Amino acid sequence: MKKHVMIITTGGTIAMKKDITGGLVPALSGHELIDAIPEIKEWADVEIIEFSNVPSGYMTVTNMAKLSQFIDKEAEKGNIDGFVVTHGTDTLEETAYFLDISLQTELPVCVTGAMRGADERGYDGEINLLDAIRVAADDASKERGVMVCLNHQIYAARSVTKTHTTQVDTFKDLTYGPLGTVYRNEIIYGRRPTKHKKVIVTNPEEEVWILSAWSGMTDASIMSAVGKAKGIVIEALGCGNVPPLCKKGLIQLMKKGIPVVLATGVPTGAVQEEYAYDGSLASMKKEGIISAGELSPKKARLLLAALLSKTKNIEEIRTCFAE
Ligand code: ASP
Repeated sequence: MKKHVMIITTGGTIAMKKDITGGLVPALSGHELIDAIPEIKEWADVEIIEFSNVPSGYMTVTNMAKLSQFIDKEAEKGNIDGFVVTHGTDTLEETAYFLDISLQTELPVCVTGAMRGADERGYDGEINLLDAIRVAADDASKERGVMVCLNHQIYAARSVTKTHTTQVDTFKDLTYGPLGTVYRNEIIYGRRPTKHKKVIVTNPEEEVWILSAWSGMTDASIMSAVGKAKGIVIEALGCGNVPPLCKKGLIQLMKKGIPVVLATGVPTGAVQEEYAYDGSLASMKKEGIISAGELSPKKARLLLAALLSKTKNIEEIRTCFAE
């Protein structure tokens, strides 16, 4: 029997066309998106839900939570085999990761987008959407967490990232590579992503800030978060080091009960306790900083935002980051 896939559109370049200035703006409805791809019916019956039509920088963690709750509610009805979410590529990896940690359903969920507008040469939206529908409809896609599919490659939401500002092969998993490939007639998976704990998110905390460390950073910018941020991710140097002059500010935030998570700004690799000098991860852990492990700063921010909807307990948050 043909699979039933729900396509949820949120916006992004995949639904954009040029305006009179030649710049891309939101233009296509969800129905217009699928009407342009007659091949869809060879793979699945589809249903379209227009969640929003915005550039992905307009997305918020609150909207991500609404999207997640919507998908879980639809999944419970029992008539859907998989979901596709179309999304702007700028924050696609963020929404995909948020869905990955918060969705309770094990049905396939595949997020896709496009790097070229619908009226540009080489528009990649149609093939990406068709591929994503095939991924969502494929039995082998079950229990692989939320996936991202563009340019015929399937990636795990947890570790995929946008690596180029404009190229169509921008999405990559720089550490572990793709989960699988969409070929003309079949999908081949090479591996499963690692299992992780799910977070039940009600009202995620928007005011989780990412502060990026630089050489010689002092605590002046860190102190600007006092009274505003409810959680901080410090985008650290190397394998998890912060300049010593900003340490005092981070400690003050932690003393005020604000969780501070340390993630690396280096594109691949986990933070590690390789040094003992002042400002190293080891020295910061003694002060109570939480390690983000392999999570990128943006993804660590989303996990912290999700956890803060459940608990303010630093030790509980630390345990969740370690899982
Ligand atoms: N700026 C666009 C967005 O994120 C980029 C894209 O969709 O590719 O909405």
